[in-house]
Amino acid sequence: MPQQAPFFKNALDHPIFKTVAKAASNLQLETYVIGGFVRDYILQRGDAKDLDFVAVGSGIQLAKEVSSLLPGKPKVSVFKNYGTAMLKTGPLELEFVGARKESYQEDSRNPAVENGTLEEDQNRRDFTINALAISVNEDSFGKLLDPFQGLQDLERKIIRTPLDPDVTYSDDPLRMLRAIRFATQLNFTIEAESLASIQRNASRIKIISNERIVEEIHKILMAPVPSIGFSLLHKTGLLKYIFPELVALQGIEEKEGQLHKDNFWHTLEVVDNIAQTTDNLWLRWAALLHDIGKAPTKRFDKKNGWTFHGHEFVGSKMVYKLFKRLKLPLNDKMKLVQKMVLMSSRPIVLATDVTDSAVRRLIFDAGEHVEDLMTLCEADITTKNPKRFKKYHNNFKRVREKIVEVEERDHIRNFQPPISGEEIMETFSLKPSREIGIIKDAIKEAILEGDIPNEYEAAKEFMYQKAAELGLNIN
Ligand code: ATP
Ligand code: MG
Repeated sequence: MPQQAPFFKNALDHPIFKTVAKAASNLQLETYVIGGFVRDYILQRGDAKDLDFVAVGSGIQLAKEVSSLLPGKPKVSVFKNYGTAMLKTGPLELEFVGARKESYQEDSRNPAVENGTLEEDQNRRDFTINALAISVNEDSFGKLLDPFQGLQDLERKIIRTPLDPDVTYSDDPLRMLRAIRFATQLNFTIEAESLASIQRNASRIKIISNERIVEEIHKILMAPVPSIGFSLLHKTGLLKYIFPELVALQGIEEKEGQLHKDNFWHTLEVVDNIAQTTDNLWLRWAALLHDIGKAPTKRFDKKNGWTFHGHEFVGSKMVYKLFKRLKLPLNDKMKLVQKMVLMSSRPIVLATDVTDSAVRRLIFDAGEHVEDLMTLCEADITTKNPKRFKKYHNNFKRVREKIVEVEERDHIRNFQPPISGEEIMETFSLKPSREIGIIKDAIKEAILEGDIPNEYEAAKEFMYQKAAELGLNIN
């Protein structure tokens, strides 16, 4: 006897489901809500905002009928090539698709599509937990359709493909990343056969566009414990196609009895740490890339042992190349990541000898991102020695306090030179020239060093002094 299918009527409490049911009944279309919404409802992952409906027939027609029943008749966006349609109502985004059967070619993740049954449509889904459907039809409203024991997999916390994983992953290699992304977001285990299949098919990730890859990487980075995803990417061999620079950090070398730390695993710890203190995606990127320059700068000599001189500078240059390759935005977000990588060692030097002038320079260089930089440095503490752990955190706490104190007094954060270039030109009847730069720079240096306060009168007096040294005459 097949098991009696459970009902999930409460899942459909939202009035939108009544509207879709009405539309489906008007058109006599078998209709189901499927995929992410059902999965997240059962997992109680909060209210989903995007709902996917599958109709046995035309999804586009159904979308239009739903729109006609909704207040204000929201606009329906039709994607004819994909046979899908989308509409927005309030905070909800509804997507409609006709049930379909797919067949794939070797070199593309865009399948040939034919109309199909619900079951055929469930077959083309990536994972059993994403193939769950709930009926929106009046005669079976709320009934769960679960041909692949997806419910059981949800309970057991397992990522499994409905079909042979070699077929599922090879058809659309993006699914390998989705498997790892869901494992990370949900803290699920990828079933052993699936994992082995991802290992076998890893190189097929090459046919996936960088934009799609980055979308998944972002979701992994934003998960509570991103290292789950990155260690799976590494283990399956996917990482070397996406981030060879990170793979290059892995390993411990020994020379003359001296070891350095494994910078790959260290990096993952830093990412997990920062995930606990910030939801800023770009700061999480900075954590992922903060040591990226260590592979190309690694040296060994008898006197100093292992060194990574200049890795911060080299790393910040690599950030640009990596962002460009992955088609990430080359804007202020990238600049933030670069700045964090470039400055990632600065507060460490300060921690043991925290002078006012060094703090002023830190604030000046980090500008509005000085707290972000501290957050990164705190996440960078991965020592397993509890005493040291506490000591390093206390040191940074002192640096943070000092930043607040110095900033209150000296206002360095959004440093505007107290004397403008124009004023210097006017005072000494100068045309734009080198001297102006020299004086401006000298004023800035004097303020950062603490020789003069960050105030107009003091800066003016200092300007005269400097001008006299340069042999300039007052107007
Ligand atoms: P989330 O919205 O959190 O990313 P989701 O499961 O809703 O998760 P979507 O990308 O919104 O993911 O896709 C909706 C549904 O479409 C999935 O649940 C799955 O059934 C199906 N799906 C999406 N992408 C694929 C794919 N590459 N291969 C097979 N099925 C897919
Ligand atoms: Mg979704």
